[in-house]
Amino acid sequence: MNSAVDDIKSRINIVDLVGEYVKLQKAGANWKACCPFHNEKSPSFMVNEEKQIFHCFGCGKGGDMFTFLMEIESLEFREALKILAEKSGVQLENFNPEAQKGKNRVLEALEWATKFWEKQLWEGSGKDKILKYLSERGLTSDSIRQFRIGYAPEGWNNLFNFLLQKGFAVEDILGAGLIIDKEIGANRYYDRFRDRIMFPIEDAMGKVIGFSARVAPGGDESQAKYINTPETTVYHKSKVLYGISKAKQAIKEKDFVLLVEGNMDVIAAHQAGLRNTVAASGTALTVEQLAILRRYTNSKNIKMLFDMDSAGQNAAKKSLELYLLNFFGSGIIPSVVFLENGKDAADAVKDDPASLLRAVENSQSALDYFWRQLLKKYDQKNPQQKNQIIQEWTEIVSHIPNDSPINSAEKVAWSKKLAHEMEVEEKLILDVVKRQSSTKSPKKDDFERTEEVLRFAKKTDLLLDKIAGLLLTDQQLWRDASEREDVRRIASENRFLNLIVSQGSKVNFSLSNLVSRVDRSAGERLEKMSLEAGFNFDHGQISEIDKQEVRRNLETYLSNYQKELQKEKLRVIIKDIKKAEESGDRESLKVLMEEFSRMSQEVK
Ligand SMILES: [Zn+2]
Repeated sequence: MNSAVDDIKSRINIVDLVGEYVKLQKAGANWKACCPFHNEKSPSFMVNEEKQIFHCFGCGKGGDMFTFLMEIESLEFREALKILAEKSGVQLENFNPEAQKGKNRVLEALEWATKFWEKQLWEGSGKDKILKYLSERGLTSDSIRQFRIGYAPEGWNNLFNFLLQKGFAVEDILGAGLIIDKEIGANRYYDRFRDRIMFPIEDAMGKVIGFSARVAPGGDESQAKYINTPETTVYHKSKVLYGISKAKQAIKEKDFVLLVEGNMDVIAAHQAGLRNTVAASGTALTVEQLAILRRYTNSKNIKMLFDMDSAGQNAAKKSLELYLLNFFGSGIIPSVVFLENGKDAADAVKDDPASLLRAVENSQSALDYFWRQLLKKYDQKNPQQKNQIIQEWTEIVSHIPNDSPINSAEKVAWSKKLAHEMEVEEKLILDVVKRQSSTKSPKKDDFERTEEVLRFAKKTDLLLDKIAGLLLTDQQLWRDASEREDVRRIASENRFLNLIVSQGSKVNFSLSNLVSRVDRSAGERLEKMSLEAGFNFDHGQISEIDKQEVRRNLETYLSNYQKELQKEKLRVIIKDIKKAEESGDRESLKVLMEEFSRMSQEVK
């Protein structure tokens, strides 16, 4: 197995892999970006091409290309291994665990279903009625092929029989969500999608994981207009973004994403040249979906386009509220894109592709949008409605966190605007906003959680980790320190330092040699320690620490360690003194006090 991992690593560059997910900027010998794993405004995530590892100085996540893929796609190691093996053309031996096999069969069934329905569209019964409809909606043949639109014909078991013939087991077809199980009768299973236009939904890697299906024109309109694949082992609707595999590159390049409502809107926008467009298919925008988008662009660069009918307006409000609640702290508010005459994106593109581009150019801040909506909705001359405006607006503004001067200033500015327009005292409004804000406690992000954990860790442990990391950054230092009496004495207190000091000469003082001797997680820990000790991270700048500074740091840490050790001992003595006082044990108290004064002198 290890040789396969090494083979893969030699064929894939981590910079390319990470670059598929986040926008990397060159920073000296490294690449940096805003971390895809935690909320942040300035980049503390870096990729080291030479070592082929990534590391975030904010949340502490780090590792090699396997760890990265596992984290970002929520995969097990084996799944990541398989994907990277495929990508690099490395053959895996003895690799066939049952669960993965089942998942693969489901994915294969979905791929065959896509092919089957495409054929029905271009050559079968969909050729006349569906192709005509799609072209009337303004879609070109290229777009239809690119998005792999298909047609599920009428009938109860077209697809079911086709997949059985292809050798799929009923459980795989069922697991893919393609058929429905009546649980009784001779025709127990039947096709879920019948007489519908099929839009395959792909994951970020471009694999079909489910479908969104629209009633065929002239079909049974009493049924739901759109139905989607149910939750399966591969399809989780809260994490799906329609069009993401085709849009991700463009989102990074243009550094913004256009979020539209429907599948047709996505395709139309791509056709009009806005390839950075996706849709939250079949759900109101979720936190998970927003998190996915943030991998490709800064959160402030999300432009939302909603149909301007009342359902569209409500969707806009819901999504934006969700956004404000969960993501405000990570940047500024998203923009809203308007289309004239209540059109959706698909209609706009059909009539005049440039009108969509213009609308996107003229997008405006969501807060501006909300504000104007409120003034439209209520009559401010009517006292009750005026009250309503104040209530709804303070509710929106109170979502803005006080986590940065910019946000606080924004909050105050919008509160004042309200006071001014409604002709009430500023202080009154500011008080209401303050009260409402205090009831909303923002969620802690990973970074804050990590910090909390660190606060509870003992300082001496942290210092030993740092010392261990320093030794790994410089072979000569490692060699020298391993001989030192003071280092050897404290090494036994820390698993990693002990490993480094005791194994150094056996691995020729090489980090990669050492890593290859320990298990995966220990290896990653070692890499991480060496990175954190070897690089300075300050205000978004990552720089390598020079050798002299590394040596100076070692001395500082060693002496700090001794001081902290004494302090810890002092704390124990203080505790004992208290106990002795309580129990009236004068004898012990005397000894302890002497010990205490002797040690406090040492600490000084
Ligand atoms: Zn991070």
